[in-house]
Amino acid sequence: MSGVVSKVAVLGSGISGAVCASTLARNGLSVTIFESARGPGGRMSQRREITEDGKELLFDHGAPYFTVSNADMLGIVHDWEARGLVAEWKENFGSFDFVSKKFVDIEKERLSKKYVGVPGMNSICSALCHEPGVDRKFGVGVGRVEWLEDEDSWSLIGLDGQFLGRFKGVVASDKNIVSPRFTDVTGRPPPLDSRLIPELAVKVKEIPVSPCFALMLAFEEPVSSVPVRGLSFKNSEVLSWAFCNSSKPERSTISEQWVLHSTDEYAKGVIAQMGLKKPSNEALAKVADELFQEFLDTGLNIPRPFFKKAHRWGSAFPAASIAGEDKCLWDGKKRLAICGDFCVSPNVEGAVLSGLAASAKFIEILSCL
Ligand SMILES: Cc1cc2nc3c(=O)[nH]c(=O)nc-3n(C[C@H](O)[C@H](O)[C@H](O)COP(=O)(O)OP(=O)(O)OC[C@H]3O[C@@H](n4cnc5c(N)ncnc54)[C@H](O)[C@@H]3O)c2cc1C
Repeated sequence: MSGVVSKVAVLGSGISGAVCASTLARNGLSVTIFESARGPGGRMSQRREITEDGKELLFDHGAPYFTVSNADMLGIVHDWEARGLVAEWKENFGSFDFVSKKFVDIEKERLSKKYVGVPGMNSICSALCHEPGVDRKFGVGVGRVEWLEDEDSWSLIGLDGQFLGRFKGVVASDKNIVSPRFTDVTGRPPPLDSRLIPELAVKVKEIPVSPCFALMLAFEEPVSSVPVRGLSFKNSEVLSWAFCNSSKPERSTISEQWVLHSTDEYAKGVIAQMGLKKPSNEALAKVADELFQEFLDTGLNIPRPFFKKAHRWGSAFPAASIAGEDKCLWDGKKRLAICGDFCVSPNVEGAVLSGLAASAKFIEILSCL
């Protein structure tokens, strides 16, 4: 990559980064997204697994769906719907009570519309990353973001030490950008030196988070003892939710696939023992057994799955919203925005609104870029 200053770099292709990047590109800015993972989506990713006998399984192992309460968000979701990127998930949901061993609150009326990406939760981020004017670099983690005072621009270095380019502005969509948590997870210093943005760094440095383990299951036969396709669990210390992934629109129904989510307490207990570094396969297999055992302990007739695998989300949900009315953090002098669900609310809607707010900051100063 050359040293020529291009326009804006966006770190992260989760929904906040993808919305921000595509909005900037539509306003005529040249944008490059850097994503450390192999593909787009962040916590709206889709996990692809191949079984030993060659079957392909696709799981929405992060956010299973999202809801809409904000008018701006509704307009955006209608646009995504018109483009075939999202659809409504029209199934019955309810709760299962571990004390009475009964289903309660079966939501026949579908109180709030539940939207899913089609054919996977990652479809929205993927489409936004492929819009004209958005350049994307998957599998490229940003290791250092350096401010060049004399050049009035930013220089980006990859996690592997590779020079990634110079940019007039930067959008960071990860809350660990200046946080010691980045070091706990990766063993490396955080990408951005907090002394460059002291006021913003104070807000973003120590955001509390709730972790979650997701268990992906695939069954040859339907789980017909469960009368709903999405359920929360009451009075369980281990499980919080379960969803039938294959009941969503445009999913493969060759086998029945479910995703179970652990409680926050369970995940915190496991992480307290194993730390924040990448868990071993053995540790994940133990978690998978424990979560599945709790599913069996419902007393429902759960068939034996032919596929069972756990995934850890170390920061599934931020437990603070740090940006107030602004919906993102902004340093106008250095042209650096920080956005993500942790700025607004711990869900897809919050992340979208934050990404939009970050793009608006750049659009306001378009003539200086
Ligand atoms: C298990 C689970 C269940 C959920 N359930 C729901 C739900 O029911 N409804 C709902 O609305 N929301 C739900 N959520 C939350 C929702 O997924 C998030 O709020 C939303 O996806 C956050 O988007 P984001 O862009 O802010 O962050 P992220 O999706 O986390 O995106 C950040 C991206 O930045 C990348 N990145 C980080 N550092 C770097 C770097 N240095 N260089 C390059 N790339 C980097 C990451 O790889 C990631 O892709 C759930 C989340 C989880 C995990």
